[in-house]
Amino acid sequence: MSQLAGKLGIVFGVANKRSIAWAIAQAWHRAGARLAFTYQGERLKENVEELAGTFGADTIILPCDVTKDDEIARVFAEVGAKFGKLNLLLHSVAFAPKDALEGEFVNTSREAFRVAHDVSAYSLVALARGAAPFMTDGGSIVAMTYYGAEKVVPHYNVMGVAKAALEASTRYLAYDLGPRKIRVNCISAGPVNTLAARGIAGFTDMLKHYEAHAPLKRNVLPDELGATGTFLASDGAAAITGQVLYVDCGYQIMGM
Ligand code: NAP
Repeated sequence: MSQLAGKLGIVFGVANKRSIAWAIAQAWHRAGARLAFTYQGERLKENVEELAGTFGADTIILPCDVTKDDEIARVFAEVGAKFGKLNLLLHSVAFAPKDALEGEFVNTSREAFRVAHDVSAYSLVALARGAAPFMTDGGSIVAMTYYGAEKVVPHYNVMGVAKAALEASTRYLAYDLGPRKIRVNCISAGPVNTLAARGIAGFTDMLKHYEAHAPLKRNVLPDELGATGTFLASDGAAAITGQVLYVDCGYQIMGM
């Protein structure tokens, strides 16, 4: 398995071993990529160092709050200087204030709406802009999204609206960056039990609902997201850009 041999990548969004970013990072690493990692704030530093450290003591690990332009600039300056170029970027970052993920969407505050879109959607634009100058041989940018972008999923609320912005941003970025052979795609994952997911009211019921109603009668496994992430990063996906790929055991096709 050396589909990504020689590729250099950066991963945003590892919080702990359950993070989807960690599943995809492990798959990219197994496929031969060399990776840099970022974490948000000191709270997660130790977690990320422990996980990413298993890839080698020289693994680059840097702080990056994706709402801060100066931190984004510093990350790409440092990674660019150490790697010389970049081939892969994983955006696996999302946040909305907890009270916006309960109750009614109609009550979403201006501030919750702003924060959710800043962290979960605008950040893809900012990171793509930071990475593009280093993707001199072309590249693959992969972002994580969810079905709540296109259909109403109770409690997902403002995060669904932010994911719709993320998916639309993916298409506009794919158009802008295509001439530079930089591809931009989203993986729309079925529910996975992670820290972020547990912030959504009724998340356990969502897992049960998928198991009962998805054509494959089960939930997606993190390793399966890793495999799709590797495919999108590989030359096998060289003609795929601007897409949302559903990795949800088929749930998205169902009408009822
Ligand atoms: P996770 O492990 O909690 O990862 C979310 C990551 O976003 C965390 O590392 C979190 O750091 C980071 N983050 C939040 N605000 C940030 C900021 N301002 N700057 C930098 N990083 C920030 O949960 P996950 O489920 O793997 O989520 C990863 C992605 O998959 C998200 O885009 C999510 O919407 C998407 N997704 C998840 C599911 C699911 O069911 N789990 C399904 C479809 C799509 P902190 O912990 O410090 O906030």
